[in-house]
Amino acid sequence: MATRSNNLYDDLVSRADIVEVISSYISVNKHGRNYRALCPFHDDVNPSLMISTDKQIFKCFVCGTGGNALTFITKYEKLSYKQAAIKLGNLIGYQDERLTQLTIKSPRQQQLSPYFDVLTDLNNYYVYSLMTEEGKEAYDYLKKRGLDDEMIQKYQLGYGLKVADASHEYLVKKGHVERIIDELDLYTGTPKTRDRMSGRVVFPITNIDGQIIGYSGRILDEASSSAKYVNSSESKVFQKAQVLFNLANANESARRDGYVYVVEGFMDVFALDKVGITSAVALMGTAFSREHIKILRRLNVEIRLALDPDNAGQLAMMNIGEQLSKEKLDFRLVASGSESRDLDEILEQDGSEAVNNYVNNLVTYPEFALNYHQNSGQLTNVRDRRDLVAKMMPIFTTISSPLILEEALAKLASVSGFELSSIKKTYDNYTARNRGQSISHNPNDYYPERQLIHRYTMPERHMLQAMVHDKRAVEYYSQNVKYFYDEIYRTIADYLLVYYKEHDEVNISQIINELTAADDLVLQDEVIQELSSLALARHVPEFSLQAMEEYKEAIDEARFDELEKIRVDNNLEGKSEAEQVAIMNEFNKKRAKVLADRRKRPNTQKKDESNLTDE
Ligand SMILES: [Zn+2]
Repeated sequence: MATRSNNLYDDLVSRADIVEVISSYISVNKHGRNYRALCPFHDDVNPSLMISTDKQIFKCFVCGTGGNALTFITKYEKLSYKQAAIKLGNLIGYQDERLTQLTIKSPRQQQLSPYFDVLTDLNNYYVYSLMTEEGKEAYDYLKKRGLDDEMIQKYQLGYGLKVADASHEYLVKKGHVERIIDELDLYTGTPKTRDRMSGRVVFPITNIDGQIIGYSGRILDEASSSAKYVNSSESKVFQKAQVLFNLANANESARRDGYVYVVEGFMDVFALDKVGITSAVALMGTAFSREHIKILRRLNVEIRLALDPDNAGQLAMMNIGEQLSKEKLDFRLVASGSESRDLDEILEQDGSEAVNNYVNNLVTYPEFALNYHQNSGQLTNVRDRRDLVAKMMPIFTTISSPLILEEALAKLASVSGFELSSIKKTYDNYTARNRGQSISHNPNDYYPERQLIHRYTMPERHMLQAMVHDKRAVEYYSQNVKYFYDEIYRTIADYLLVYYKEHDEVNISQIINELTAADDLVLQDEVIQELSSLALARHVPEFSLQAMEEYKEAIDEARFDELEKIRVDNNLEGKSEAEQVAIMNEFNKKRAKVLADRRKRPNTQKKDESNLTDE
């Protein structure tokens, strides 16, 4: 299967496992032989996205989105097929010179490169300024915070000169376009030339590719009335909700280490780096966004939450933990216990081993939540105790191990002061109530699209379905039918004709690649979606010539109907109302007779459409 073919895209999809690829973006659950997930392409409440391991394709039965692993990345990340191929190559660690050739800047990257150039040059200026006479105070500050030259260099730390328009002048002299500098909103005043980072130690912030997107600056003059920290304003390249400090470095080490620490500020990142933990990102405050979840999910490793042990930090961990549980991400939390110091304080006072011990004391979310409520010391009356039990129920349902659940229930009993038997009963009631709202089993709920299929296209669909699964059906089609009325079906049939000339069995994932590569293909999305759903049908009848003939007959009849309708429509044109009524009456009489004749013959329409579920 994994032999190298002439087509890079085919190689990629044959080497990737679609379940692994999709689960690096969203949670998937095993369901029979296949997998299911909440569809990220529409507002999904029941898992409607089905992933077939056999066929290596996915399909949402509500919004219709479907395709192979590359299609998924294309849609999810809003990338071109080419960019998605590069992504997939990185994701599965596939080395190929053809992939390297694809690594050309995307139009968006090209469009943004003047902005990145400004930010890089400006940072070089900050780095340079740190080494000047004036920058010595900032340099000493960093030294005092325990950052040696190697760290200062690794994180490209710098300093903003007190002459506030010096850096602007430097950028203009370097030949940067003022409009670009302006749009980055790095400067204030009129004209906008006063550097926001003036008089501050500068910490550059990068995106996942290591490109500088903005800065955070810490004031040196403690007596100053200005904010202790300022961040760059949002711009084309800097969106606060997506920012994670040190993401580029962490992205590299996370795959090797299998985890990523999420900490509060960059000082925590530095502290962890000093004790040998390089896989860490900082939220730069405690605001946690949906974008952060997306980024962390893509890292596809265990998330370890290690915010500050103060009240704000612990509360933030509770909230983030709740979100990560809902998203079914793999994560644990650092149990702060009686610790009240930040990571760099622990490091400074007790050394690296103490930091390592601290951040390796990891607990699950239910355990963390129980400790949190226990320590918050607010369980003084029955109502608070009952509230605690109620709050823990949804958290407990995320526990998959019965042993851990047992332990958690016992702990809740002891913390809340209720009998274990009552706690267990509450839990059983809670899960029973929620099970009632689980996935609907009426297949038509999944497939509203099915109800839209026009009557005359149904036999075409049946025949096409047979063609997807059997070469003989394709041969029958090419000799006896030759043409589908429905444009999408016709396109798929044409592809199958060509495909089966070279292959005996169909590889849907490969055909999807070909369809995607066809730039001139009309209704490309619809074609790929339809093909995916045909390929995933569960009850495909055995190939039989008789069935093919029945389909053909139904197709012919439907065409007759359609032609008749057009003829009548043409006839009606320009006629008086009375004449039109007469024509319609005649047409309806004729139609009733045709339908009655048809009913006498074995009816192909009655044959239920193949069921697409994977129970
Ligand atoms: Zn969907």
